[in-house]
Amino acid sequence: MSKLLKITDIKVHFPIGKAGFFGRPAGYVRAVDGVSFEIQRGETLGLVGESGSGKTTLGRAVLRAIEPTGGQIVYEHDGTSVDIMALDRKGLRAMWRHMQMIFQDPYSSLNPRMTVRDVIGEPLIANKLAKGSALSDRVVDMAQRCGLDVEHLGRFPHAFSGGQRQRIAIARALILHPEFIVCDEAVSALDVSIQAQILNLLADLQVQLNLTYLFIAHDLAAVAYACDRVAVMYLGQIAEIAPTEKLYYTPKHPYTEALMSAIPEADPSRVMQPVFLTGERPSPTNPPDGCRFQTRCRYATDACRTSIPKLREHATGHWVACHHAEELTLKGALEHGVAARPAHLDSPTIQAGT
Ligand code: SF4
Repeated sequence: MSKLLKITDIKVHFPIGKAGFFGRPAGYVRAVDGVSFEIQRGETLGLVGESGSGKTTLGRAVLRAIEPTGGQIVYEHDGTSVDIMALDRKGLRAMWRHMQMIFQDPYSSLNPRMTVRDVIGEPLIANKLAKGSALSDRVVDMAQRCGLDVEHLGRFPHAFSGGQRQRIAIARALILHPEFIVCDEAVSALDVSIQAQILNLLADLQVQLNLTYLFIAHDLAAVAYACDRVAVMYLGQIAEIAPTEKLYYTPKHPYTEALMSAIPEADPSRVMQPVFLTGERPSPTNPPDGCRFQTRCRYATDACRTSIPKLREHATGHWVACHHAEELTLKGALEHGVAARPAHLDSPTIQAGT
């Protein structure tokens, strides 16, 4: 696989309050604070973490849908390295044809006054890429790929179920044939039975259209099912990043261990051994010195309170930001009595019209 995207030291700091005569900000919410990673062409990289960890802000910053405060984003396109941060608005809009986003809420992300045919075809019209029968053919093709019934393209979004609306949103995001998709909690608002179908649809479309996904979610079971690698975010930074099986079964960061223990288990015969996080979660306006996880980490030492753990390669492809990663024996999803892939996500089948 070749590299598609490289982000280096991305920061998103939101100013808060006003202080002083010149009305300078009283402080900053450090929503994303120095994140670096690469995404390979054709892979699915999961991004997990609790609410407020900065994962959605990071996903939007990668596309510059939110303007990063600093850092570098380099996107490989047609044999050229494109510096996304250096693009003006016109250049950025042109790149958004290749980089799209699927949102969490299929209810509010679709215009209720447009027919499904118009919703899906609108990006082609806005970019002057098709009209007339060519436009209609491309809309029908993408609707069919996404499992929609073409007989229903003249209806309005409110006539569809949540799963169908997410299929419409996916068809709209893919109509320009992008290469890179940020899936921002794309299955979180759906019933569990529908989640599996949408995850399978995304996997099928990835193969058909050679797509690369950044898959943002808080459902660790869905992430285990969908992703090749997973990055764990805590308080605006990456705590750990590794191939999915390694991260789930042999985590090296105490925060990842706690997340693994919290995966719901459908089989009542398995014994859950959750790791409860005690202590306060620090404010992103004033993160602690040293390790940001120290206030909730049961393994914290004096070194953790004074020295910032750098994200380093613990083993090939397995990166961790913890001073004690080599000394700790942490429990993964299996040792917690949790099967990372629950029954409702096994062997789903795609059903058109669901
Ligand atoms: Fe815990 Fe220290 Fe590792 Fe941070 S560096 S996760 S406080 S053991």
